[in-house]
Order: sequence, then C-alpha cells, then structure tokens
Amino acid sequence: MARVYREGDIGNEIADRKIAVLGYGSQGHAHALNLRDSGCEVVVGLYKESPSWSKAERDGLAVTETPEAVRWADVVMMLLPDEAQPAVFRSEVEGNLSEGMLLLFAHGFNIHFNQIRVPPEVDLGLVAPKGPGHVLRRLYVEGRGMPALFAVGNDASGRARDLTLSYARAIGCGRAGIIETTFGEETETDLFGEQAVLCGGLTALLTAGFETLVEAGYQPELAYYECVNELKLIVDLIYEGGLAEMRYSISNTAEYGDYVSGPRVIDEHVKENMRRILAEIQSGQFAKEWVLENQAGRPNFLARRRREAESRVEKVGAELRSLAAEGVGAKGEER
Ligand code: NDP
Ligand code: MG
Ligand code: MG
Repeated sequence: MARVYREGDIGNEIADRKIAVLGYGSQGHAHALNLRDSGCEVVVGLYKESPSWSKAERDGLAVTETPEAVRWADVVMMLLPDEAQPAVFRSEVEGNLSEGMLLLFAHGFNIHFNQIRVPPEVDLGLVAPKGPGHVLRRLYVEGRGMPALFAVGNDASGRARDLTLSYARAIGCGRAGIIETTFGEETETDLFGEQAVLCGGLTALLTAGFETLVEAGYQPELAYYECVNELKLIVDLIYEGGLAEMRYSISNTAEYGDYVSGPRVIDEHVKENMRRILAEIQSGQFAKEWVLENQAGRPNFLARRRREAESRVEKVGAELRSLAAEGVGAKGEER
C-alpha cells in the first residue's frame, strides 16, 4: 500500500515562511484561509481590477498585486485557472522568483505539459487536494481534512520535500492523508478521473438515463428525481462505507438489478473508450487541443457551455430546485 502521511508524520516548517497565494477562486480562497487559520503568514496576489480582490479583503486577508506578492514571499502557490497560468507566469511571476524559493501548484498540467518552465535554482512542488476548494475550506473549519497528493518537481535547496508536505498539512490535508506522487501521475490521473468518471462520464450517464425515460413517455420531473437527484444520497453512502454500504442500504431488488444491469451499461466497449481517452491524455493530445482552444478564444468551450445550460435535464432540475426552495421559504428566483 502507498505510504499515507498524516499530521503526526509532518513538520511545521511552513509556519515561518511567507506565503503568497496567487488567485482567490475555488482553491485560492480555501488555501489562503486554511493557511492563515493554521498560523501562517499569507498574502493573496491578484491583478488590480479583479473582483476577487475585495472578497479576499472582506475575509480579512492582505492583498497585493501579483509581482509584489511574489517578491515578498518565500513560498508561492499558483492558483490561477490552468489556462491563465502560463502568460501570468511569464509576465509577473518568473522575473520575481529568486534562489531558494518554493513554487507550488495544485495541479500539474502546466509543468507536465511544458507550458511553464521553472528556473533550476527555484524549488518546485505540487500539493493537489482531491476535491473542490469550497469543500476543502468547509472540512478544515469542521476540524476535518481533504486527502491530497504531493510531489517534488525540483529540490534545489534540499528542503523542498519537507516544506511541500508541511504546506499540505497547513491546509488541513494531513488530517485525512497525503500521498506522494509525480507531476506526471497527478496530471494524467486527475484529467482521466474528471473526464471519464467524475464529470464527463457522470454527466453523460445521468443525461442518458434521464433522456431514456423521457423519450419512453415518462414524466420528466420523475425521470429527474430517479436519474439525477437521488444520486446525492447514493454517493453519500458510497463515501461513508464503500459500495457495500450503499448496497446494504438499498433494497434487495435494487441490489440484484445493480449486479445484472450495471455491467451491461458500462460494458467492455465503454472501457475501450476510457482507454482511448487515457491514451489521448498520456500522449499530450488533449492538452494540445485545450491550449489551442484557449488561444483561439475558447469558441467551442463557450458554445458547449451555453448549449448544455439549455438542455432539458438542466431546465427540469432548475424548476424542481426552485420549488424545493419555495417550500423552505427561500426565494426561488435568487438561486
Ligand atoms: P478559479 O477559476 O476558481 O479561480 C481563479 C482565481 O485566479 C480567481 O481569483 C481569479 O480572479 C484569479 N485570476 C484569474 N485570472 C487571473 C490573472 N490573469 N491574474 C491573477 N489572478 C487571476 O480557479 P480554481 O481554484 O478552480 O483553480 C486553480 C488551480 O487549482 C488550477 O490549477 C486547478 O487545476 C487547481 N485545482 C482546482 C480544483 C477546484 O476545486 N476547482 C481542485 C484541485 C485543483 P478573478 O475572479 O478576478 O477572475
Ligand atoms: Mg481532480
Ligand atoms: Mg482537475
């Protein structure tokens, strides 16, 4: 089994380093606030017009422009959107890095696919929490933590590994468990997980189930409850106790149906598709397409986003949620 680092295995080196968190979005706000609450000295780096600026200040954090934050810091965590990182790195970060500093990422994309090259005298590490930023913050506040991966890409100072682990501990991940990886392994497994299973695979599965029922003449609202809404309850059981706990809680009829029908939905052909998707990730083809899409102003990405928002499954879901919100006295139109 992989070695899982817990709080007790990790030092507190990070407590006497100055940390710049670049970006204050999903991950940025969680890292900055968790670090501060763990006793670290943190500054958030942003661009002057950013709407995130006042948000960070309202949360009680010091904010400066990115170049200044980098010059001030010993440790810099890069939490801009992946597609914005290379340009900002070249214009505002690179020239302000100095020997002995540690530059951290929360996802390996730009390093693994050579979009960013870090100078050899600068330490390079990865701390990748395995979940959304808002959950990372919520778990920390509750005294719990989110699992994370860490990696060292370059250890010029000889201290990169301890300091990277210590950072992961300070954002609360040592309470759950931290596993060592490489930039390559983190990047490829993260992209595969979100494309084939967590985001792409799941949304396609839910939509296909919903459409199958609706096309067969069943009520869309009912199809939504069956194929989308109830997923939360099923996933909570799996999260708590694995597939067995979920199967224990559902009826015997549901469990039998799970065994006989699941493998017919996700059959060998689906696994073949998954292997193809993995191969495109490994070869760099997916990364290349995404980089080019961004360089072209994201026409396909934005069109898909608009089209998906108008889909029937989303409309039905929004109507049902607004009814549920009215039921508890909240204003449906604000949601
Ligand atoms: P978000 O899009 O949520 O936040 C990005 C932040 O960067 C915002 O505060 C944004 O400010 C700021 N920003 C955008 N452009 C610039 C710029 N040019 N200069 C300075 N600041 C800028 O990003 P995420 O938190 O989703 O992603 C950050 C990193 O974390 C990525 O590497 C991602 O892969 C990784 N990650 C994300 C996870 C998640 O939960 N979302 C999970 C694990 C890893 P503004 O509001 O002004 O645009
Ligand atoms: Mg991920
Ligand atoms: Mg990801």
